Amino acid sequence: MIRSVRDQGPTEPPLIPYGRQSISEADIEAVAAVLRSPFLTQGPAVPAFEAALAAKVEAPFAVAANSATSALHLACLALGLGPGDVMWTVPNTFVATANVALQCGADVDFVDIDPETFVMCPKALEAKLGRAAREGRLPKVVTPVHFAGQSVDMAALAVLADRYGFRVLEDASHAVGALYEGRPVGACPYSEIAVFSFHPVKIITTGEGGAAVTRNERLAARMRLLRTHGVTREPDELTRAPDGPWSYEQIALGYNYRLSDIQAALGLSQLQRLEAFVARRREIAGVYDAALQSTSLARAPYQDPKTRSSWHLYVARLAEGLDRRQVFEALRRQGVGVQVHYIPVHAQPFYQARGHRLGDYPAAEAYYRSAITLPIFPELAAAEQAAVLAAFFEALNAAAGAG
Ligand SMILES: *Cc1c(COP(=O)(O)O)cnc(C)c1O
Repeated sequence: MIRSVRDQGPTEPPLIPYGRQSISEADIEAVAAVLRSPFLTQGPAVPAFEAALAAKVEAPFAVAANSATSALHLACLALGLGPGDVMWTVPNTFVATANVALQCGADVDFVDIDPETFVMCPKALEAKLGRAAREGRLPKVVTPVHFAGQSVDMAALAVLADRYGFRVLEDASHAVGALYEGRPVGACPYSEIAVFSFHPVKIITTGEGGAAVTRNERLAARMRLLRTHGVTREPDELTRAPDGPWSYEQIALGYNYRLSDIQAALGLSQLQRLEAFVARRREIAGVYDAALQSTSLARAPYQDPKTRSSWHLYVARLAEGLDRRQVFEALRRQGVGVQVHYIPVHAQPFYQARGHRLGDYPAAEAYYRSAITLPIFPELAAAEQAAVLAAFFEALNAAAGAG
């Protein structure tokens, strides 16, 4: 991760990042094999990766893309999101989740999070839907985010989707390898599409990359079409008799959102270690959880028993009154690459300029003021985690003494 190098001053200890990819010799071999093959892109590796991913998450269809952002954009387009429509998501996410709605020409609005799970609160959603129904401004798409790898209560959302007629798109960027009600996130029993990210900091990586999974063949076909310029050679998609065997037709305005075979080969190789990655992340989270029981200065993240997190992030919340910046800076000085996930999207200057107001999502804003992300990734050594915890407790005690 570049950030870990860039953030290092000359006199500072090496930084333990908050997240980092794990690349094996098998991964390197898989990529090298593609480099020696005839196809660097549009070859067999992408469909092979899609099939393996679909099987892993128990979804019939997977459509790989060059990022989760691209996959989210494709998903919104396939769901028919466009001018005059509204998409709702949460403030506690990366900006891309909200941006894609605007990129479709639709509007975006937000639903507050649950203060315990940090994901979309079904009660807040229900209350907002009631108001929106009275005002005739219901969302077309609702995009919950499985923050840190913990699933939203999808069954509760599905009840509301039935009642109010919106479509559910899961931003599962953090959550490949996670379970909800004992089934893999991505199986989509309560949604139409789920999207994963394969950025190096996420659970498995393709360098850059993402994928949309769905049970709906028509949605998958639409996303595939838009992924590659809206151009098709599929006989049953052609609108005219072909000019010849070379024929292709553009039937929609699409993009070049393709994943390359080089990337897909890495993804396919990484996918074989998904369970091991998640198991190791879970172990690290367990060590943090146990350690945090001995202090009242920070709290471990609550886990809904219906879920089993993939632990993309480990977010501790500082006790009321502690100076988060002081704790953050003390940890960075000790070489601990803590982070903050996320600055609420509605608080970003771009969204403020679009009329979103501070104070409207009190749970997301309160969460943001006290959250700190501790390092978690498969190759974090036990001794490194012990050092992180020692530095964290020292920083907490210093902040409590100062407060
Ligand atoms: C990382 C991330 C994205 C974007 O993923 P890319 O693959 O980098 O485009 C979108 N949403 C969330 C919640 C993310 O964490």
